[in-house]
Amino acid sequence: CGIVGYVGGQSALDVVLAGLRRLEYRGYDSAGVAVPADGGLAAAKKAGKLANLEKELSDRPLPSGPTGIGHTRWATHGAPNDANAHPHLDNPGRVAVVHNGIIENFAELRAELAGRGHALASDTDTEVVAHLLSESFSSCGDLAESMRQVCRRLEGAFTLVAVHADEPDVVVGARRNSPLVVGLGDGESFLASDVAAFIEHTREAVELGQDQVVELRRDGVTVTGFDGAPAEVRPYHVDWDASA
Ligand code: GLU
Repeated sequence: CGIVGYVGGQSALDVVLAGLRRLEYRGYDSAGVAVPADGGLAAAKKAGKLANLEKELSDRPLPSGPTGIGHTRWATHGAPNDANAHPHLDNPGRVAVVHNGIIENFAELRAELAGRGHALASDTDTEVVAHLLSESFSSCGDLAESMRQVCRRLEGAFTLVAVHADEPDVVVGARRNSPLVVGLGDGESFLASDVAAFIEHTREAVELGQDQVVELRRDGVTVTGFDGAPAEVRPYHVDWDASA
């Protein structure tokens, strides 16, 4: 239901958790975060309130790095439990993805992945995306390109945000029929389903267009269509009052 992504000089985990707090008003049934760190990927997710996730993170702290993603879930496919909470990871956990919306053709994609030997760990429509990204990344080695390849195979409404252990300085997002906003800071960049998540850090924003993929780095963003065609980035200034 809410998505936050960050790359920059602050603790990504702290920025992501604060962003999720700003999106709590939308309602949710579970929450989770993932950070690429120490050559791998660390994730935590919990059913229930953000406080449950924060307790989990204080009991079992994650390493902190320059990138992170977070999610608050409003379940559509699969019960609201820990296993179905986002992020969803591939096996063996090199890529993590969070998703708002519904992947309409997930059943056929699950069957296809099962046929190639993938064991899926949740009942969500989302998890197929982690496994498809993993397969794509193995052949192209580029998360943004992997996202474009995978999105071309998806039907439905989705905002997707992903990180990969092999590209620890990059966050990638994509959208179709579901919102995603980029925040441009000074040496840091943000992604969220709603500007409220990052407005305390920057008011320079870019609305991602329909069927576009964004690659987020500390020093800026690159936007393309799902087909790979470069897209123009037109920032606007968010002038509404954050406390409203
Ligand atoms: N369809 C996904 C799920 O049920 C995402 C739900 C959401 O938008 O939070 O896990």
